[in-house]
Amino acid sequence: MNSIHTITKGGFASVIGQQEAASMVTQAMRAGRLPHAIMVCGPSGCGKLSFALALAKYVCCTNPSESDSCGECISCRLIDKQEHPDIHFVFPVIRKKDGSAVVSDDWISEWRQRLRQSPYFSLADWCREMGDPNKQPLIYTSESNEIQRKLSLKSAMGGYKVAIIWLPEKMNAECANKLLKLVEEPPEKTLFIMVSEEPEYVLPTLAGRTQRVNLIPIEQDILKDYLIEKFGLTETEAKDIARLSEGSVLQAIQNISLSDEEKACFDSFTTLMRQAWRRDIRSLKDWSEQMASWGRERHKIFLRYAARMNRENFMANFRTPDINYMNSEEAAFAVRFAPFINERNVYGIEELIEEAITHIEQNVNPKMVFFDLAVRMIVLIKNR
Ligand SMILES: [Zn+2]
Repeated sequence: MNSIHTITKGGFASVIGQQEAASMVTQAMRAGRLPHAIMVCGPSGCGKLSFALALAKYVCCTNPSESDSCGECISCRLIDKQEHPDIHFVFPVIRKKDGSAVVSDDWISEWRQRLRQSPYFSLADWCREMGDPNKQPLIYTSESNEIQRKLSLKSAMGGYKVAIIWLPEKMNAECANKLLKLVEEPPEKTLFIMVSEEPEYVLPTLAGRTQRVNLIPIEQDILKDYLIEKFGLTETEAKDIARLSEGSVLQAIQNISLSDEEKACFDSFTTLMRQAWRRDIRSLKDWSEQMASWGRERHKIFLRYAARMNRENFMANFRTPDINYMNSEEAAFAVRFAPFINERNVYGIEELIEEAITHIEQNVNPKMVFFDLAVRMIVLIKNR
């Protein structure tokens, strides 16, 4: 998945679809009204960390414009390389080595590497990066001394010192309590930027000392253009994926990698239904042999997909075309296929698919499972 990210240069221009919040903070900065502690909130995948980095870059830039950092001064260039000495990061981590206190800096090179790829990633992505998706990462108590020490140092570049705290809801209570005073009375020219996915779980006294900046789900058209530019999708593909991604870059990236699989499922599903309708036993036998070669996990993916298509096509008989949860290819197929799925067969097909899933899980020979499914589908699909 990481391979499809491209290296992103920071700055508000690279934050997707958060223009309003960006102009709010840049205006506040120029007017000298920027609070010294900000908590960036908003739905998953809307670009909170990207926004936090852009803000850090803006306050440290020596030659900012009205709306963005210059991208060229020493400070900007150091931030792009993730090497700025006055930008400090706090983020949830797992224990890396035995014996010593656990702090973010244990993982700082992996963290910087991740940011250089793209600031759009989830906690689950970060856990995978640390090599253990099963451990619960935390911001440990020892972190509060660390951040206190760093912020008490003189600014290396002579400008702002910024502490970016990613996911303060993962901070243990002792750490959060220790940070309170520092956040309330920070050293001069210090900015705290917290990035929270679940602000309701941040220690209330700590959250109360910050000013919230709420980001919004990315608008479909903006997300669509981003997908075309970054991933080389066609207009139609990008539109479909943007529509199904609920304003989240993370969801969109996931949907892109799913789409190859979905395409294979779609092709297989349409073949099954067409041959079943034609009662073409010979082709259905070929189809089941073809399916048998897919592997058990993909069998289940296909069957769940078929179950979803069954439901969607049934529902498509009652809905207007613009509210469905199908991509354009599926919707085009549904125009003619949907009438074949009705109250007399929708539940039968559902049961048939469920039964096939059970058999696949029980290691029944897949050739038999799919051939049985295909033959019984002939009867069901004629039942209109
Ligand atoms: Zn600059």
